[in-house]
Amino acid sequence: MTRARIALLLLIAAAAAAFYAFDGHQLLRPENLRDVLARVQAHHQSSPLQTGLIFFVVYVAVTGLSLPGAAVMTLVGGAIFGLLWGTVIVSFASTFGATLAFLAARFLLRDWVQARFGEKLKPINEGIAREGALYLFALRLVPAFPFFAVNLLMGLTPIRTATYFWVSQVGMLAGTVAYVYAGAKLGEFQLSAGLLAAFAVVGLLPLIAKKILDLVKARRVYARWTKPARFDRNLVVIGAGSAGLVSAYIAAAIKAKVTLVEKHRMGGDCLYTGCVPSKALLRSAKFVSQARKAKDLGIRTASIEFDFADVMERVQRVIRTIEPHDSIGRYTELGVECVQGEARIVSPWEVEVRTEGGETLRLTTRSIVIAAGARPFVPPIPGIEQMDCLTSDTVWGLRERPARLLVLGGGPIGSELAQAFARLGSQVTQVEMLPRILPREDPEVSEMLRARFAEEGIAVLAGHKAKWFLLENGRKTLVCEHEGRDVRVEFDTLLCAVGRVANTAGYGLEELGIPVTKGRTVETDEFLRTVYPNIYACGDVAGPYQFTHTASHQAWYASVNALLGGLKKFRADYSVIPWATFTDPEVARVGLSETEAKEQGIPYEVSVYGIDDLDRAIADEAAHGMVKVLTAPGSDRILGATIVGEHAGDLVAEYVAAMRHGFGMNKILGTIHIYPTLAEANKYAAGVWKKAHAPQWALRLAESFHAWRRG
Ligand SMILES: Cc1cc2nc3c(=O)[nH]c(=O)nc-3n(C[C@H](O)[C@H](O)[C@H](O)COP(=O)(O)OP(=O)(O)OC[C@H]3O[C@@H](n4cnc5c(N)ncnc54)[C@H](O)[C@@H]3O)c2cc1C
Repeated sequence: MTRARIALLLLIAAAAAAFYAFDGHQLLRPENLRDVLARVQAHHQSSPLQTGLIFFVVYVAVTGLSLPGAAVMTLVGGAIFGLLWGTVIVSFASTFGATLAFLAARFLLRDWVQARFGEKLKPINEGIAREGALYLFALRLVPAFPFFAVNLLMGLTPIRTATYFWVSQVGMLAGTVAYVYAGAKLGEFQLSAGLLAAFAVVGLLPLIAKKILDLVKARRVYARWTKPARFDRNLVVIGAGSAGLVSAYIAAAIKAKVTLVEKHRMGGDCLYTGCVPSKALLRSAKFVSQARKAKDLGIRTASIEFDFADVMERVQRVIRTIEPHDSIGRYTELGVECVQGEARIVSPWEVEVRTEGGETLRLTTRSIVIAAGARPFVPPIPGIEQMDCLTSDTVWGLRERPARLLVLGGGPIGSELAQAFARLGSQVTQVEMLPRILPREDPEVSEMLRARFAEEGIAVLAGHKAKWFLLENGRKTLVCEHEGRDVRVEFDTLLCAVGRVANTAGYGLEELGIPVTKGRTVETDEFLRTVYPNIYACGDVAGPYQFTHTASHQAWYASVNALLGGLKKFRADYSVIPWATFTDPEVARVGLSETEAKEQGIPYEVSVYGIDDLDRAIADEAAHGMVKVLTAPGSDRILGATIVGEHAGDLVAEYVAAMRHGFGMNKILGTIHIYPTLAEANKYAAGVWKKAHAPQWALRLAESFHAWRRG
């Protein structure tokens, strides 16, 4: 530390020590305030200029040294000098004091902090360089942010001193006026409507700050665009998958004029390449698997014969059966204008559509919902381009069963498809880089699935990192790394299921400057707004979840906020999000897993009920799996539930309802569940919880009571 820094530090310490030594802090205590006020007011009457100057200097010293009392001094300023002069004196004194504290922090600590934490502070530094004035303005407007903390922390950032000074001066003005006014009224020692209004203004400042910030930000993003005088539509929705269909439907239901643009097929991924085909395929595969286990059900033999192509055709039949639900006809009837073509956002209020017929339409609209979905991610592993890699987009075109299928990816999609193909007769190897499949779930859940996969002949290579692919004399090989050595896997067909990336390119986001997140989804706020307050995003394109039900859930918020946000906006609620992986056994979850609770340091208790004990599961030859519930310690409040077993995705609904509507294990236990059903597993899990929480003293008392009754 340089001498100058040591000297400054000593000076600050000495001044602070003097403040306390001479009882400076006592003067500002409420019980002493009336006395102090009376003395200063008397001095003010005889020499107002001198009093004003002394007050100014003391105020600057207190705030410059970051001593406590700035708020009380502001009230005192109002009481002594009145609204006008009080505001002038306090406003300048507080800005000077704040700037002194800012400069002191900068001089003493900034170089050290930036040298030590520079890398971590990079995003903050960049944010400050871009929008420092705006951040500071927001902090200044909200009196809840401690004045001294803002001064000291801002000193550590790269914001310019001049910017800091004027933004502080302007930003603190509203709060200063309200406090000085309150002080002036307090000086009269009476409760008046004006005084109450002053406190109300202080309370409202955060809201006002937020509104002003929103307006400033909006003005900035819209500055380079010309807004049409009128709009042909209230809403244009881009993409007719799960998110887009629901957005458009909601808009039409509340009588808005809405256009839904789809470049490919109404229904999107879920209908054609996602949920529907995968569940249809799994159903056929399950039948084959059950037939193979006929003996378990007391059937000596059950021979099955099938053609893989017929199974894949059935998948298409299922799609065709569901297709009308998402069709142009149905949505037109519901009041949605459907346009087939590729949409491109050309301004915040205009969408250009290249129709299938080659026509170009320009639609003007008040708001836009982006629901452009996601696509499979194919990792750039050397040699993969020679493998004719299948993905969840293309696998449905297969009509010939792959003899040896390599599934890359141990997540839900990879696991579902690996099991389906294995049951339909492919020899399947599943490769996952992480130590286990379904890595988002608890380890014992992954293990249950791995064990079943092993039983069914699937080679699960977890902890294997794909390094490169080789094509030698028509033979395909993957070389992966496992515990430091190379492992070679030969295969005929590769199916890549390592994740999905949002569609963010090619339809105007870059040109409009709509940012994407690190996870490559469209960046939205809690209302699902992009950086343009009239452009929203939902579904896979926005994340963070990639499910049909979350896409529809978000679509409601996006649509309602886009159409009625001026009146009332709704924050997207992600508090209770369930999901399921439709393998056999199924895995379903809502809320926290045990692993997450540990990672987040959330205290919990666990109740586990083994489904191997459930009458109906035994009768169905499905006696496996568990219901695992996390509760808050000492309470029946549910933090999360994981179910593994037959129809887990259906069973978890009871826990979803409990978490959503705030009822706990006691209520689940007190609900009649039909015997014999799988749903009883939920009640028995609640029973496990209850048993562990039964009051032992009451049971002992009951035991004594019954003994006494027996005589
Ligand atoms: C194999 C698989 C199985 C799955 N299983 C399940 C499951 O069991 N349960 C579940 O909840 N989820 C499941 N999902 C996930 C689910 O399919 C997605 O989360 C859901 O489809 C996302 O809907 P979306 O509307 O956001 O996107 P999408 O359905 O992808 O729709 C986006 C639409 O936008 C269109 N589009 C894009 N750009 C433009 C443009 N510029 N102009 C016009 N149109 C455009 C696209 O053509 C597409 O139709 C599965 C996914 C896969 C791949």
